[in-house]
Amino acid sequence: MRDLTENILELIRRTSTDLPADVEKSLCTSIEREEPGSAARGALETILKNVALSRKNSTPICQDTGTPIFYVHYPEGMSTRKLKEQIRTAMEAATRHSYMRPNAVNVLTEKNSGNNLGGKAFPTIHFEEVEGDELTIELMLKGGGCENVGAQYSLPDSRLSAGRDLAGVRKVVLDAVQKAQGQGCAPGILGVAFGGDRGSGYLASKEVLFNKMDEGNPDPKLAELEQKLTDEANQMGIGPMGFGGKTTVLKTRITGLHRLPASYFVSVSYMCWAYRRRKMSVKDNEVTYD
Ligand code: SF4
Repeated sequence: MRDLTENILELIRRTSTDLPADVEKSLCTSIEREEPGSAARGALETILKNVALSRKNSTPICQDTGTPIFYVHYPEGMSTRKLKEQIRTAMEAATRHSYMRPNAVNVLTEKNSGNNLGGKAFPTIHFEEVEGDELTIELMLKGGGCENVGAQYSLPDSRLSAGRDLAGVRKVVLDAVQKAQGQGCAPGILGVAFGGDRGSGYLASKEVLFNKMDEGNPDPKLAELEQKLTDEANQMGIGPMGFGGKTTVLKTRITGLHRLPASYFVSVSYMCWAYRRRKMSVKDNEVTYD
């Protein structure tokens, strides 16, 4: 099996230092909505200057380089053990090159491993076998501040008068946005999963964040709710970095999961403006990055 360590290192470098074009475009568009001279517009301008500098200098977009979450879609017969070894070696190298800040802290001893490796879950690597002969590795770097404001609700929620339906989903998602104000580094992107259990719900709420900004939801009802939630969040006046303004959320993504009759969870993953997610593909020995 081909050694992809150097290619995975390049994937990490690109993810940490080069904000995807669709996210940057969305930030550029949102600037036009903010008043000239306002704190909101100033915050967005600073963000975009920082994005351009990071790309030019190959330095992290944010000092918090986030939790690395990999999704590996591999063809039949490929060794997941070897792929995991290569990912871990690349992560160590990325830390040495300062593409990643040492972020893995032993929760018991408080000791930082110094190389972004720690136990089974740091980095997190999900494997899924796929048909065909193409390997794809997706990486998301999920900031700590925005992860802290993620939320999970069990419906019905009497405090919010949220029942077990899409109207209830809407209420709790807006509650999560309200509670995140001033934290989580807005403008954010909302990943929402309703249904599932507590674990699968949170997982799915992050998986939807791998989609491109302009990808529509195949379910028209969910597409409508996504747009409604983005619009309503942007009417809350929270704004970029909580400075007020019209840009609180750039996009909302929603997915539904089958659930037990007894449970109805809504899981919200909040992604900050440093929306770092990239992909590499290997087919016919050729490596491409997106
Ligand atoms: S939440 Fe995002 S933008 Fe804010 S400090 Fe963390 S990684 Fe950086």
